[in-house]
Amino acid sequence: MSFKRDYFEIRLESIGGLGANLAGKILGEYGALYLGLNASSFSSYGSEKRGSPVKAYIRYAKENTPIRVNSPVQIPNILGLFHIALANKENVMAGVSENTSVVVNTDKEPEEVRNILKMYGGKLYCIDALKIALETKSRVNMVMIGAIAKTNDFMCIEKLQQCIKDTIGKKYPKALESNLNAIKRGYEEVKYKEISPDDKYDYIVAKDLEREWGYKNAPIGGVNTCFGSSISNDLSASREGYIPIFIKEKCINCGLCDSTCPDMTFQFVKGQYKGKECMVNLGIDYHHCKGCLRCVEICPTKALQVSLERDFDISKYHIRNKDLIVGKLNFEEVGASSFVTSESYTEDTNI
Ligand code: SF4
Ligand code: SF4
Repeated sequence: MSFKRDYFEIRLESIGGLGANLAGKILGEYGALYLGLNASSFSSYGSEKRGSPVKAYIRYAKENTPIRVNSPVQIPNILGLFHIALANKENVMAGVSENTSVVVNTDKEPEEVRNILKMYGGKLYCIDALKIALETKSRVNMVMIGAIAKTNDFMCIEKLQQCIKDTIGKKYPKALESNLNAIKRGYEEVKYKEISPDDKYDYIVAKDLEREWGYKNAPIGGVNTCFGSSISNDLSASREGYIPIFIKEKCINCGLCDSTCPDMTFQFVKGQYKGKECMVNLGIDYHHCKGCLRCVEICPTKALQVSLERDFDISKYHIRNKDLIVGKLNFEEVGASSFVTSESYTEDTNI
């Protein structure tokens, strides 16, 4: 193990539910207690719910170099992308240079991923963390920290596993073996590609997001210009491999799923059930479903059942005219998803 730099910075980009916050804490603790470095870590997120953007920042420094910076990491040595769908979000690839190692949770090959990310240059590491997490019965974050450890020679995998044993292993002993296995597979199975900067994609400078309305000009009473759930807000990145499947024949249109779902994915329209007029459940708009599976728990007739996302082509259930809508409105700047109602559903649905 050799830590040759004075300073080393990591940024994790994620969505609530994938465990980036915990991964950041683990990496911070690992640096301080197991690598003998100065270390700090903190996260930034909105409401503590699945589907919200999450960023975690970790800094390492040599023992005699104090860490006095407490601002977000803008030029990371390592960027951890917990889902490939985050590639299109603003500022995600900011500060990635030829000196950055980018670790991505994806089932795609590095050549394709480079273009999806529009990556300027650096080292690209691709790992199918979701698949490994499902197979090992662990979490995406464990696989990701294993893959992150592969990016340099000072992050010793054995010490990382010891850190896991001493921390979450004590809290959740039954999950320890699965977590250690997930870290090991992340470390061993990550695919690597060196990318030399060329004319294909530009370096992206990190900048603060500017909002049209701020404290100086917002209407009295305040306005939330960035809704958590909106018709343009794709929550597919929050899912951890499982989705609810709607079995229409079993549905009694009680509406419990609709009042339980935190993201209003269920599409109800006026219709008839057993000869009576009522609101009829068309099913789920997966564009907004974050895979929390609360609807499955609440359904009294088992009309909603847990399934593996990989087994279904759910793209046909996404918003039909999504491109048109997103083209007209700025990202995350529209109202609640209930606005979409049944128009978002595909035509092949039978009421
Ligand atoms: S909770 Fe189940 S039965 Fe009730 S409307 Fe939803 S899917 Fe249908
Ligand atoms: S799993 Fe069910 S409750 Fe959770 S977001 Fe998806 S549809 Fe809504």
